[in-house]
Amino acid sequence: LPVLAIVGRPNVGKSALVNRILGRREAVVQDTPGVTRDRVNYKAEWNERRFTLVDTGGWEPDAKGIHAAVAAQAEIAIDLADAVLFVVDAMVGPTATDEHVVKLLRSTKKPVILVANKVDDIRQEPEAASLWSLGLGQPWPVSAVHGRGVADLLDHVLTVLPEVSAVAKEQVGGPRRVALLGRPNVGKSSLLNRAAGEERVVVHDLAGTTRDPVDEQIELAGRVWTFVDTAGIRRRMNLAQGADFYASLRTSAALEKAEVAVVLIDVTEPISEQDVRIIELVLESGRALVLAFNKWDLLDSDDGLERERRRYLEREIEQDLAHVAWAPRVNISAKTGRHLEKLVPALELALQSWDTRIPTGKFNALLAELTAEHPHPVRGGKQPRILFGTQASSRPPTFVLFTTGFLDPQYRRFITRRLRELYGFEGSPIIVNMRVRE
Ligand code: GDP
Repeated sequence: LPVLAIVGRPNVGKSALVNRILGRREAVVQDTPGVTRDRVNYKAEWNERRFTLVDTGGWEPDAKGIHAAVAAQAEIAIDLADAVLFVVDAMVGPTATDEHVVKLLRSTKKPVILVANKVDDIRQEPEAASLWSLGLGQPWPVSAVHGRGVADLLDHVLTVLPEVSAVAKEQVGGPRRVALLGRPNVGKSSLLNRAAGEERVVVHDLAGTTRDPVDEQIELAGRVWTFVDTAGIRRRMNLAQGADFYASLRTSAALEKAEVAVVLIDVTEPISEQDVRIIELVLESGRALVLAFNKWDLLDSDDGLERERRRYLEREIEQDLAHVAWAPRVNISAKTGRHLEKLVPALELALQSWDTRIPTGKFNALLAELTAEHPHPVRGGKQPRILFGTQASSRPPTFVLFTTGFLDPQYRRFITRRLRELYGFEGSPIIVNMRVRE
């Protein structure tokens, strides 16, 4: 889907606008102090066109940090969205921060739409008109809270938003798209440099210099791969606060463009909550997954400490990563190049699973076999039966079961497990949905 990102200072009404566009009240979740929203990606629809709405404004910094935080939002939006909504409070007028962001936004060729919010009344429209001075073209006066002007704004958005994201267009038959993920210092840029076959200088994003291309095409094992959002990997975010929020925003946005994720894990450190959280984001996105354990050069020797760490790591993997035991694992060193060649077959396997389609006839034969071998337990005098099943889609494989009653979660897990036993699906999440027919 094409991606529309929302950027703006705190308090200009970004969440109100998000809610208005989604046409419903989303719970605003206070997760960590400062983080006003824990979700960033929403599926939106207008006039039967669907797009992904990315709310980059979830981190509301204190007064000192506003410049940097809004600049980070803009940077991410420019890199990863197909179009940007820049929201300004028409009643306040452009501030220094707004002007700073405008400079960033004007460096992109992507469409930027200027939204003049809080125009609750027609008499306030002249205030909106004064925003022409920002040089972003026509300001669109809206009242996110009352809904005024939002329909016109969205009509206009659809005229500039591509039908499918630029990404999806390239995708057909083109190189497969990989997101390289992991917490800071796990070795993402080292791996990227190694894969690209040269040491590159990290290009800083000075005003006036051209931007890094966001994605890079890299040849591995005789085949070209697109690594998405490499700019995000090469560029270091200069944020004292909110860096985690922007890191997960980038992770989500990169996943939106990718088909498969490589999650890097540093073997010299305990598997952390952050590692698990990143894997969670991959699962939520429905992308294929490969786990790459990095820095093995520091664990290879016969040294007692290293041996102990190896043993402990095995235990951590069993405990913390049991839910993704289906993901291919490679033990690599971005630094020495150890076993990097194993990454490609792992990626290919994961993508092949992700693309798999099981013919309906075969799937139903399998269901008949499973239910004969292990019928669903009787619940309240009734035994729910599976009437029919089909694979609704691939990428990732998604199955639908038509049943006469709700299946126990345990029973659904049993079916998922058997599907994996039979077909492998290594590296791909699989989804089993249920439709109850009365
Ligand atoms: P990023 O933040 O994920 O991009 O991580 P970097 O690629 O910048 O790496 C962080 C640090 O870990 C740097 O000092 C690297 O030299 C080091 N590093 C990365 N990969 C390896 C590896 O495989 N082995 C060792 N020993 N060090 C590594």
